[in-house]
Amino acid sequence: MVFGKYYHTITFGCQMNEADTEVLHGLLEALGFCYTELKEEADLLVIVTCAVRQKAEEKVSTLLGRLRSWKKEKTDRILAVGGCMSQQEEVADYIKRKFPYVDIIFGTHSLAYFPDLLKEAGESKTTVVDVEEKYTTREGLPVQRKSSFQAWVPIVYGCNNFCSYCVVPYVRGRERSRNFHEIIKEVRKLGQEGYREITLLGQNVDAYGKDLPEGQDLVSLLQELNQVESINRIRFLTSHPRDFSKGIVCSVAELDKVCEHFHLPLQSGSNRILKKMNRGYSRKHYLELVDYIKDIVPEAAITTDLIVGFPGETEEDFTETMDMVEKIRFDAAYTFVYSPRRKTPAAKMEDDVSPDIKKERIMHLVERQKEIGWEINCNLEGSTLEVLVEGVSKEDNEKLTGRTRTNKLVHFEGPSSLKGKLCLLKINQAKTWHLQGELLREQTFTV
Ligand code: SAM
Ligand code: SF4
Repeated sequence: MVFGKYYHTITFGCQMNEADTEVLHGLLEALGFCYTELKEEADLLVIVTCAVRQKAEEKVSTLLGRLRSWKKEKTDRILAVGGCMSQQEEVADYIKRKFPYVDIIFGTHSLAYFPDLLKEAGESKTTVVDVEEKYTTREGLPVQRKSSFQAWVPIVYGCNNFCSYCVVPYVRGRERSRNFHEIIKEVRKLGQEGYREITLLGQNVDAYGKDLPEGQDLVSLLQELNQVESINRIRFLTSHPRDFSKGIVCSVAELDKVCEHFHLPLQSGSNRILKKMNRGYSRKHYLELVDYIKDIVPEAAITTDLIVGFPGETEEDFTETMDMVEKIRFDAAYTFVYSPRRKTPAAKMEDDVSPDIKKERIMHLVERQKEIGWEINCNLEGSTLEVLVEGVSKEDNEKLTGRTRTNKLVHFEGPSSLKGKLCLLKINQAKTWHLQGELLREQTFTV
């Protein structure tokens, strides 16, 4: 056991990385480490990296350069780098060479073995590296969650889709579903501990259960979890338009706890580009799914991811993306400029859209999406919505912030004691990225 030692973590990237960090915290607390908000106070610093875009990798390199002085200040400090970036062998080699003061380099597959690596680092004079692929589902590992009322619950690890631009299948391995009953057990425990909201996570949640016995899939999981007492909200991320089923839409309509929000990445509105991206669906298929959602769950929010400047994207292809944005009217879109990733098939294609055109396209897309998002939010003015209060607003510390079932942020005035509670708000004003509301009352439940 380690007593009186402090650790700090810095996490980049997606919710799966956030969930991994919570496991890391669990493992370290079990060893006797205490968390500190200040890296200056820490004896151990772990960085959880992202490799999805070049920019994310550059941020980590800059940070590692700056950490040279942190490491030098106290000789027995330990610096570790994990996550998607270090899972790539050549990147692990680069980190080892460029930043020799890094003590541990570990990949996504080695998370569970971090305590062993830590022990090894204490005894070794050189960098300890473990980036071997080990296919586990991390059952039974301790988790120290950041929030006491919202929980990430990974249900499927890895990805088999191999979209031509994406590094994820190379750094997180093949799809493997968690045990159906273990997930239910975990969520029941979360309910007993007072959690209000859970988000089921996977790179492609619709793939959940493909490797499990018949009848164990996302729809049946949602049905089971909907019965867990004291959990009020269930979310799931991310859906893939190829595997997304109408059954999931029906579950959202029928199951009272499953929230009315679909995150369904479109990536491009051009059939030609979708094919080059190896996405496995067409504009027509995507539009049919959206029509079905709008028919069955009209109040649902639909959000998406879009990439501009993919190799070979012409003005016509981009116009088709804009056409989908107009037709569908997404509540929000995460927009990205294409970034070539090593090992991926797209990296071998000519990156022929000029930086100026990429910039022009993304600006046009962001501006139009902003208007659409605001127009959709305006329709909510005057309505009464339930939010789960997340705490003090980052933009205005006089206000609290909460999320609607459709995942929209609402700022409102109220006592900080409402954090973690469900409240009813009257929506007064729509802004581009959030809504302004007025507290009506706290929701009470008999459990
Ligand atoms: N599994 C999810 C899916 O298929 O939509 C999301 C995975 S990825 C972590 C999140 C988003 O990053 C993707 O939806 C895509 O829009 C974007 N992305 C992935 N690779 C990219 C690349 N090479 N360049 C730009 N954006 C990329
Ligand atoms: Fe990447 Fe495609 Fe898998 Fe999403 S579905 S993680 S974009 S390969």
